[in-house]
Amino acid sequence: MKIPIDVEKTASAKRGAKIEKWALSTLILGALLLIFGNDAFASVDPTVRIVVYILLLLIPAIVTRIPLVIFDRSWQGTIIKVHSEMGAYSDERFIARMNDFRTKLKIEADIKLTDGRVVRKTVYLGKPDAKIYEKISVGDTVYHVKGAKYLQHVSSSHRTATCVICGKENSLQNQRCDICDHSLLIK
Ligand SMILES: [Zn+2]
Repeated sequence: MKIPIDVEKTASAKRGAKIEKWALSTLILGALLLIFGNDAFASVDPTVRIVVYILLLLIPAIVTRIPLVIFDRSWQGTIIKVHSEMGAYSDERFIARMNDFRTKLKIEADIKLTDGRVVRKTVYLGKPDAKIYEKISVGDTVYHVKGAKYLQHVSSSHRTATCVICGKENSLQNQRCDICDHSLLIK
């Protein structure tokens, strides 16, 4: 798998920033516990206190989902099955229940990786659009670059590829993304 250097650099910087954010927030929390902890938890048994401290220090890791970031790896795979459903997703979950126009279409795919594993990933999350179904087919190639937010789905039927940095769908003829100017194609 060949990842363009500029794409790899940007994705790696994004990953680094997430790790820094987690490390910094854990450090600040640790410092606060060190300064105020013993007073705040004075009535708590010392052994229990240590457990409470450990649990508190794990909060930034859970919020930033840092294990996923640390163990992230680049991969390449082929779509073997497409699943789709209409519904409310992400942070708009509550609002979407009240406003139908917020309803999103989510298309997931079972992707067979080059090492033989099969993973289920979201390949489309956005406005309901019947044309999307035609774009995502069994046999299409999907790439993930370590640290990048978006998967690159290469649509064989529509000759398009997703930018892994900004998520824009580009024509396969593009060398660079129309929006963010990063190199487009991973091979
Ligand atoms: Zn882009």
